[in-house]
Amino acid sequence: MMDEYDVVVIGGGPGGAMAARYAAAGGLSVLLIEKRQEIGTPVRCAEGVGLKDMDRFLDLEPRHISQPIKGATIYAPDGTAMKLRSKNDEVAGYILERKVFDRSLVEAAARAGASVFTKTSALGLIIEKGTVVGVRVSRMDKEKEIRCKIVIGADGTESKVARWAGLVSAIKLKDIESGVQYLMTDIDIDPDNIELYMGNRYAPGGYVWIFPKGKDRANVGIGLLASKIKEERPIDYLNKFVQERFPNGKIAEMNFGGIPVSGGNVPIYGKGVMIVGDAAQLTDPITGGGIKCALFSGEFAGKVAANAVNSGDWSEKALSKYKTEWDKMYGRYMRINLILKDYYVDMTDEEANKLARELAKKDFTGVMEIPELVKVLSSVD
Ligand code: FAD
Repeated sequence: MMDEYDVVVIGGGPGGAMAARYAAAGGLSVLLIEKRQEIGTPVRCAEGVGLKDMDRFLDLEPRHISQPIKGATIYAPDGTAMKLRSKNDEVAGYILERKVFDRSLVEAAARAGASVFTKTSALGLIIEKGTVVGVRVSRMDKEKEIRCKIVIGADGTESKVARWAGLVSAIKLKDIESGVQYLMTDIDIDPDNIELYMGNRYAPGGYVWIFPKGKDRANVGIGLLASKIKEERPIDYLNKFVQERFPNGKIAEMNFGGIPVSGGNVPIYGKGVMIVGDAAQLTDPITGGGIKCALFSGEFAGKVAANAVNSGDWSEKALSKYKTEWDKMYGRYMRINLILKDYYVDMTDEEANKLARELAKKDFTGVMEIPELVKVLSSVD
């Protein structure tokens, strides 16, 4: 490990991998550090993505995909079902195999020229005159200082980089979903259809999901708005659901994780630093989906870093182009989804049932992404 790079990326998830790849592709010397010994494990994700834009990031091969998806059924608390189906029964999204997907993304970064060190943790930032100029790391029990022009924080929901840089304080409870998920087998599902269960009965301020990973196995999980958690924990709600829906199913794995749903209303760059993906709270506030947000924000940050260093100006103003790019792509989408989320989390089950009964009369063919769903929702009185 050298002592100096143009860019150090902290975190080897989708956001960090893309940032490292694009900074390296721009000719910069890049170090990507990941605290775990393997990229992609443990998986703390339901692994669902819409088809749109995926080929921009990786040539997906069968090994990256555990199940193509063609439809979704959304259940209201009283069981009213809204069925969404892709046009002509085409594939509309995937349940990924993130263990393999994340690894391929990091391999692409390495191929572009980034140095990758796993089992290497960031311990803190080196800040001089208010500007980030490096990272203190621990690699195989040895501490070291690495200097750089730009640090990209891609260290996930529990991000410390954003806090070390003074950009954010702790996330508010109303801005985070508390997630828990089982990988289940021996279950009776329609493999190309995801199921979502909405309302306080299932998950106050959140939802339960069944994301198939084959003919009789699926990620079955729950996200609960942290500010709505009282005596019953997310796992209590999930166990109740699993007993009802899959009384004979088997649990093969379990994972927990926080999902930011603030819509990213926090600073995402500063002096010598940019923050991407979950670390910057860049996730869809309605679905909690963050894979694509991490991929896009990583790409934008990596390209902005390359331009900045190549032009000899990596000032805060130069890095602000990252936020401009992000807002151009996602600003409006996030604003709309935040309004919908605020409406949803305060809905009673009776209101949700009424809305679902209206929506169940509509035709959802071809509606598989949130913007299309918003169009249908806005046609309800
Ligand atoms: P991460 O993938 O979290 O990667 C961050 C990396 O940084 C980790 O590998 C971590 O080990 C590393 N790291 C942390 N600290 C340090 C440090 N100090 N030094 C070095 N490395 C460090 N999104 C979807 O799009 N679809 C879904 O179906 C979906 N389901 C989800 C279900 C659950 C239960 C949860 C919790 C999340 C889900 N998400 C989903 C969200 C999605 O997983 C994240 O948005 C996505 O992984 C964000 O990518 P990232 O690169 O920003 O962060």
